[in-house]
Amino acid sequence: MDGAGKPTVAPVLILLGPPGAGKGTQARMLEEAHGLVQLSTGDLLRAAVAAGTEAGKRAKSVMEAGDLVSDEIVIAILRDRLNEADCAKGVILDGFPRTTVQAEELDALLAENGQKVDAAISLDVDDAAMIERISGRFTCGACGEGYHDKFKPTATPDVCDHCGSTEMKRRSDDNAATVAQRLEAYHAQTAPLIDYYETKGALSRVPAMGSIESIAASLNSVVSKATA
Ligand code: AMP
Repeated sequence: MDGAGKPTVAPVLILLGPPGAGKGTQARMLEEAHGLVQLSTGDLLRAAVAAGTEAGKRAKSVMEAGDLVSDEIVIAILRDRLNEADCAKGVILDGFPRTTVQAEELDALLAENGQKVDAAISLDVDDAAMIERISGRFTCGACGEGYHDKFKPTATPDVCDHCGSTEMKRRSDDNAATVAQRLEAYHAQTAPLIDYYETKGALSRVPAMGSIESIAASLNSVVSKATA
């Protein structure tokens, strides 16, 4: 702590939860409220696919099948992004780590800078509800704001409330077959991280079946405590 009672090491927070749990939506809200940088490996990988990089070419078919991209590719992308200057103010990781190897590698990367995971927050939801949430979601292609046909429609159809763009996008891996495989990958490879962070005393659980606003309020109090 410095004299003003602020942490001297930038906070590192993790949002855990299956696809559709609301990690991206909540991470964006926390980013604004707490001055953190949202870091989504899914977004970084989609950008690599769109840019046609070597990593993107290798990741594309794996993502379309709903499987996990190799630890080697994801860790390299994450390491590069964490080294960018804006991350010095603290990060909220959305979709990383997803395997025990990634969690251990993250601990090692952070330790090099005298940092650690301050809080891993599990968004607790039901699988059945996840399918409904995923099948209706879309984002603004210009500013990235997330929407949902039923739970968070735009005020004017197909016009972003945030920036006014009409360029709305739906993810190609948000189809029924890929979503089922993504949920399976979550339960087999990512859910064990709940125990990993519990053992380290860093785990918080937030029930995430309510409204976006009520979940955000619960998360805000967890994050305020973790970054105090
Ligand atoms: P997301 O946007 O987090 O739902 O991720 C979309 C897809 O990107 C996933 O289904 C995986 O194929 C891939 N992906 C994202 N993050 C990771 C990660 N940490 N490890 C492995 N694959 C990932």
